[in-house]
Amino acid sequence: MTIRSAPEIWEAALGQLQIEVSKANFHTWLSKTRGLSFQDGKFTVGVPNTFIAEYLGKNQLSLIEKALTDVAREPVKIEFCVASDSETSVARRTKLPLFNPRYTFDTFVVGNSNNLAYAAAAKVVENPGLAFNPLFLHGGAGLGKTHLLHAIGNKALANHLAVLYVTAEQYTNELVTSIREKTTDEFRKKFRSVDILLVDDVQFFAGKEQTEENFFYTFNELHSNNRQIVLASDQAPKAIPMLRERLRSRLEWGLVADLQSPDFETRLGILQHKAKRDGVDIGPDVLEFIALQIKENIRALEGSLNRVVAYSKLLRTMVTPEIAARALEDIAGKEPQLAPITPNLITETVAGTFQLTLSDLRGKRRDEATVFARQLCMYLLRQETDCSLSEIGKVLGDRSPSTVSYAYEKMSGAINNDPLLKRQVFNIQQRIHATRSHN
Ligand code: ADP
Ligand code: MG
Repeated sequence: MTIRSAPEIWEAALGQLQIEVSKANFHTWLSKTRGLSFQDGKFTVGVPNTFIAEYLGKNQLSLIEKALTDVAREPVKIEFCVASDSETSVARRTKLPLFNPRYTFDTFVVGNSNNLAYAAAAKVVENPGLAFNPLFLHGGAGLGKTHLLHAIGNKALANHLAVLYVTAEQYTNELVTSIREKTTDEFRKKFRSVDILLVDDVQFFAGKEQTEENFFYTFNELHSNNRQIVLASDQAPKAIPMLRERLRSRLEWGLVADLQSPDFETRLGILQHKAKRDGVDIGPDVLEFIALQIKENIRALEGSLNRVVAYSKLLRTMVTPEIAARALEDIAGKEPQLAPITPNLITETVAGTFQLTLSDLRGKRRDEATVFARQLCMYLLRQETDCSLSEIGKVLGDRSPSTVSYAYEKMSGAINNDPLLKRQVFNIQQRIHATRSHN
């Protein structure tokens, strides 16, 4: 679910209503309305006067409800509220943060795979700016990063702290808009006046120089004023290609905590929790079955539970492991199984990168570029496969194990001392992994 502010949701709903009612009707009744807030399923629409509130309430409530429900993708109850123009335009400008009420610390199931991230997030909201600053959460998709950011947001609001959540993409878009509309002062104020800034999906900043630079200043200002910054990303800071060193080292100042794929107990715990929350009657054997099938991703775990429940409703039968197996037939056990990384894949990728042929790598060429590529190949074969030194030697044209070992040590040292080389090697590794997953 993407979280948007009430004004944005309302704008989208208005777009739909504009199509559904006459032009005159829209102009008279709807054009001067604003989305004010959206919390716990209640959407407050700001209208200019009581007359309009009454008219809309009597004549267009269901139409509006339907449009809003479509946009928000959840049932919405509407309340009209007379708001003077100035109030409504303020509400429009300062986009109020909105946190998913379901994403709280209480609803987060803790296990070995995520306890560090959970504890750090909980600590940060109790001692903003003092515990770890910044807190950097990273882990694969669907492992709970956004959930924890929202949990911090919800708790911070309850503690009356000023807190703001943006994705790196929203930050980028707002920055671009503020430059275009010459409102960079407001932009700066908005982001630098909070107690806690939550930035999701920061890998999006990679390679966007102007945004990165701007974020760097926002970061420094908040940090030096002891305001809390929490960041989430699908990769560790040092693994984000193209993130400039300056920002990267800032990101590593505080605590870096990762979320890993949940173990069986945690997966089962999450399923039990969701089943209870949704009031579904489902036996422990079925939950275990699902937890055994779906391993990588908590979002997929939730989806599978929903699917099993929907399936049994459709068939009007009790949920049994057999029913679950049928419901999950086409997904269970079919999470992408990555092909193994083969020596061939590595040599081909390296050869391609350096525009050499495989026989160059295996042969006797001793020019600097070829030797370097060959040694890098040895290093990557050692890093990425289970091949022994002598097997690696064979792959690269019958070279001795001691030659391989020497190359490996030399390359490791060079990579550690040279950030640029480190990044290049990282990029090659990325390419190897990416090619593999398309197998
Ligand atoms: P990410 O941002 O890491 O991609 P999300 O935070 O969006 O992942 O999580 C995906 C879904 O899984 C959400 O519905 C979230 O509530 C749920 N989820 C993730 N981790 C947990 C957990 N430990 N306990 C309960 N639900 C979780
Ligand atoms: Mg997320």
